[in-house]
Amino acid sequence: MSVLDHNEYNNHEHVAFFNDKYSGLQAIIAVHNTNLGPALGGCRMWSYANSEEALTDVLRLSKGMTYKAAMANVALGGGKSVILGDPRAAKTPAMMEAMGKFVDTFKGRYYTAEDSGISVEDLQHMEKHSNYIAGIHSKYHISEEKSDGNPSPATALGVFVGVKAAVAYQYNTDLRGVKVAIQGLGSVGIRLARHLKNAGAELFVADVYKPNVTVAAEELGAVIVDPQDILTLDVDVIAPCALGATINPTSLPNIKAKVIAGAANNQLANEGIGTECRNRGILYAPDYVINAGGIIDIYHQKIESSDRGLKSHIENIGQTLTDIFKGSDEQDLATNIVANKIAEERFLKK
Ligand code: NAD
Repeated sequence: MSVLDHNEYNNHEHVAFFNDKYSGLQAIIAVHNTNLGPALGGCRMWSYANSEEALTDVLRLSKGMTYKAAMANVALGGGKSVILGDPRAAKTPAMMEAMGKFVDTFKGRYYTAEDSGISVEDLQHMEKHSNYIAGIHSKYHISEEKSDGNPSPATALGVFVGVKAAVAYQYNTDLRGVKVAIQGLGSVGIRLARHLKNAGAELFVADVYKPNVTVAAEELGAVIVDPQDILTLDVDVIAPCALGATINPTSLPNIKAKVIAGAANNQLANEGIGTECRNRGILYAPDYVINAGGIIDIYHQKIESSDRGLKSHIENIGQTLTDIFKGSDEQDLATNIVANKIAEERFLKK
């Protein structure tokens, strides 16, 4: 299938493929929309089964970034990049440097940052060849824990604020005694768990990588659950913080929680699942709204701001979600559809 006929192509402005025979780098950069500003989106390295799968991933993710930036009220557009290969086995500094050269060919219409499989150190290699690498320097901080540029702490704060807003809307309560099941205790999940614990929530956690759940159990008293069961526990909130498409026709009928609010991108297998959630009385916090803390962080590092300015922008995520929840009830529409309409009004009218 050609790129132009691809289901996920969706009016992308620019899709470029890169092949560097010296380092072995094979990568794709997709720029979805730059109406509101230069495209920003992390670089993901993953052992895709084939190039078709990589193309689908990058196109879906870059489109999501346009919506995320518009909803977060930052002057950025949407883009994303993927590197084909196993980050644990195939990654080399030379490959990261080659990726920096590839990013630079966009001359500032695309900025990259961290995503799965790409670390601050990898971005430092890219930065040798491009000024358009974000997520590695921090002027402003959201806590005493000084960030190295990785936006995960900001993302976790935004998701925490979002869970609080969703619980307040759905159950009319704060987080004390509220049962939350977290799927995936990586950079965002473990930080979210700490916020929730401090607010008095009861934690249930699952991760396919055992050391991560052990930390949560020992440090936070979280109950460890089999990854197969985490989404269907009898809890108040499920927080998907691992993979995309976990809310799908198979999992949804078995979900007992009445709030879904987590960090993962593309949580719904398709947009119709949002309507199914609404029909089942489940309040879904749209993923690109609740997980926008990272993009807000990166944006503030590029403008004149302050620690306070950064933090309060992230904390606005709570109000944005509450407005979406109200709009969903008023219009009898799924929360993801309401969010899409608001985002499209912002980036399409420009
Ligand atoms: P991460 O790679 O650090 O953590 C993901 C965790 O999920 C890992 O510990 C992994 O072992 C676990 N996992 C994978 N498959 C699983 C499964 N089937 N069941 C349970 N656990 C599983 O990633 P992260 O940075 O914490 O990001 C988490 C999610 O949030 C991702 O979907 C990412 O795209 C999204 N996100 C992250 C950021 C950010 O700033 N890091 C920003 C926006 C969105």
